[in-house]
Amino acid sequence: MKINLISDTVTKPSSEMLKTMFSAKVGDDVFKEDPSINELEEKVAALFGMEAALFFPSGTMANQTAIKLHTRPGDQLICDKYAHIYNYEGGGVSFNSGVSCKLVDGHRGMMTADQVEASINPPDFYHSPLTTLVCIENTTNKGGGACWNFNELKRIKEVCTKHSLAFHLDGARLWNALVAKNETPKQYGKLFDTISVCFSKGLGCPVGSVLIGTKAHIDKALRIRKIFGGGMRQAGYLASAASYALDHNINRLAEDHAKAKEIGSVLNSLSFIQKVEPIETNIIIFEINETVLAADEFISKLNENNVQIIGMGQGKLRIVTHLDYTEEMHDAFLSILKRL
Ligand SMILES: *Cc1c(COP(=O)(O)O)cnc(C)c1O
Repeated sequence: MKINLISDTVTKPSSEMLKTMFSAKVGDDVFKEDPSINELEEKVAALFGMEAALFFPSGTMANQTAIKLHTRPGDQLICDKYAHIYNYEGGGVSFNSGVSCKLVDGHRGMMTADQVEASINPPDFYHSPLTTLVCIENTTNKGGGACWNFNELKRIKEVCTKHSLAFHLDGARLWNALVAKNETPKQYGKLFDTISVCFSKGLGCPVGSVLIGTKAHIDKALRIRKIFGGGMRQAGYLASAASYALDHNINRLAEDHAKAKEIGSVLNSLSFIQKVEPIETNIIIFEINETVLAADEFISKLNENNVQIIGMGQGKLRIVTHLDYTEEMHDAFLSILKRL
């Protein structure tokens, strides 16, 4: 039995999901004639109480499209130093949009409204780039699956409104935050100009993200997605997997969160583990005392036991629970850990 805890992207579609995909009605989506995609887009827009939505092949393309539509070359956006858009999208902010990032030194990937306000360049001071967009991430990836305090998001929204800034949510793992904090998509729909969500992480789809916003923003996004090469044809096979996941795989995220907490308490009991970051969702980031055991050695010991996890450098390691991490694997993994 192989236990892969590297990411929640390692899941494979279940047989039920595959059945739904095989029977999907499809058409040419570049002509907006794919019924499964149209249905998914309407369903997601309604779920968030927003006007429109657009299906994307990746979360990266959805985020990059949002950044492109809210900015002009030379502008600056504000984000946390841990942001996925800054660290893990290949420099797309500058490559695609000619935009720079003002990085905020937040806590676990989250900034305060005061930090955001202090990062805005005065619009009449033409020596500085013009600030036009604020991007946040929920849950935070590099921040260890941390969830935002919704009141802080409301305060950031007030700052955005006061200074006429667009507000984008990278919600690749928003589903995890909704379940962990008992929040609703509509709360988020009211606050943000655009939201991206992923189906290929905790929800177990092979491919797919959606960008949600006003009709005007999504019309613009359609053109940008085309330019980025993201216009797809009979992609309803993929969209039907996302529809299936919306109906079946959201509430069960609580199981991934519970398993992550259990792994965290076993890690905390091990003498060579220095620190386990607080666990709110399905990501566990922890530090190893390398004077006792090197991080690489710990990873190889786990590999010998058919367990895969990932290192993040500087003695930090990451474990991510997901849909394909079963009860049986969980029991096996906990006993392997206790034996080390
Ligand atoms: C995974 C992820 C994305 C998008 O990733 P893709 O692999 O392009 O789908 C965006 N933001 C965050 C926070 C992520 O974790």
